[in-house]
Amino acid sequence: MNRSDTLFTAAKKVLPGGVNSPVRAFQRVGGHPIFFNKSSGSHLIDVDGKSYIDYVGSWGPMIVGHSHPTVIKKIQTAVGEGLGFGAPTEIETILAEEVIKLMPSIEMIRMVSSGTEATMSAIRVARGYTGRDKIVKFEGCYHGHSDSLLVKAGSGALTLGEPDSLGVPASLAAHTITLDYNNSAQVTETFARIGDDVAAIIVEPIAGNMGLVPPADGFLQTLRKVCDQHGTVLIFDEVMTGFRVALGGAQSHYGVKPDMTTLGKVIGGGMPVGAFGGRADIMNVVAPLGGVYQAGTLSGNPIAMTAGLATLELIQAPGFFERLAEKSEQLTSGLRMRAEQANVSFSTHCVGGMFGFFFTSANPVTGFAQVMNANTDQFNTFFNSMLQQGINLAPSPFESGFISAAHSSEDIEETLRCAEIAFAAL
Ligand SMILES: *Cc1c(COP(=O)(O)O)cnc(C)c1O
Repeated sequence: MNRSDTLFTAAKKVLPGGVNSPVRAFQRVGGHPIFFNKSSGSHLIDVDGKSYIDYVGSWGPMIVGHSHPTVIKKIQTAVGEGLGFGAPTEIETILAEEVIKLMPSIEMIRMVSSGTEATMSAIRVARGYTGRDKIVKFEGCYHGHSDSLLVKAGSGALTLGEPDSLGVPASLAAHTITLDYNNSAQVTETFARIGDDVAAIIVEPIAGNMGLVPPADGFLQTLRKVCDQHGTVLIFDEVMTGFRVALGGAQSHYGVKPDMTTLGKVIGGGMPVGAFGGRADIMNVVAPLGGVYQAGTLSGNPIAMTAGLATLELIQAPGFFERLAEKSEQLTSGLRMRAEQANVSFSTHCVGGMFGFFFTSANPVTGFAQVMNANTDQFNTFFNSMLQQGINLAPSPFESGFISAAHSSEDIEETLRCAEIAFAAL
């Protein structure tokens, strides 16, 4: 038995499923999770000393590479000054100013400690601002695990939502309407009927939690239009895409301006940070200015702010996102070519520093129904072959992959060499 297996056996006795977040348990792909204890650049080292080229990037934050020396050094300095003071610190304002500079749709921002908190709070703000209860989300988009957002589509598109988890009251889920991602006609029709009752649309401007599904032409513009017509707050959940697909996020990439934005992942540079922000007239309803309550003991923690700020500074290096996009392109076009050579039905996309792939003949994949039709057995075989060969991909067919500035051309060539072997085994 290797050390990861031993550690997993011990973990299962005290942590549900042996993990603190379900996807880490490897249930989708079979086998046992790898335990890591070191990271550097594009690589992770497991507890048995084996090295992997990593495409999980701690689920997105590690855009400058693991254990970047500048980030680590700044954190170490900050730690020496104190772990937190329970009072305002200057760095909270500096990080806020930095975010507002990079994402001009945000005029005011509040820091929280996770993406879930950010989306949950943004929904509360939108409801408080509009005085409405209903929200619209899209099937296959993930916005964290708060009750209002763990909802799937009901039996018909215009019916009330149903809980997507035990423990979520049906009466609460009933306020959430779930529509099809990329179906602009359905959005227009729904808003013609009930638009004036909808507090917010929340959407991943590039869906990244059902694999990667980019927005169809005109989809985000349609959301902007119906929100303008009905006084509905448009929330872009950029927890994954913010500072990941472009310096200004998906909103700058596609040129559509939301009313509110939620952030997480990269904004914390690997530490627990989330944030929600937007138009000042909307953010003015947040306590202590307004009547929407929101708070956090560790919100704006100076060590976490330091990691985030250091990361946001590094990604502003000239050409950073161009180089990142080139690497994603090198990887996905290489995968596409090798799948073709092996006669495997395969569809892959990338935007900036994120990528995704599906074992399917649907090309492009545009929504949840096609995602559900992709071949998960082939994914599992491919995943396990890659892992065996030292390539760490997300252990689920419904996750995106992440590239960092530390991934070299050689790393990607090595990954493609392994992929050739993995495709041949399908
Ligand atoms: C990761 C993610 C979340 C949840 O963030 P946590 O920090 O895991 O709570 C919300 N929305 C999107 C789009 C995400 O990718």
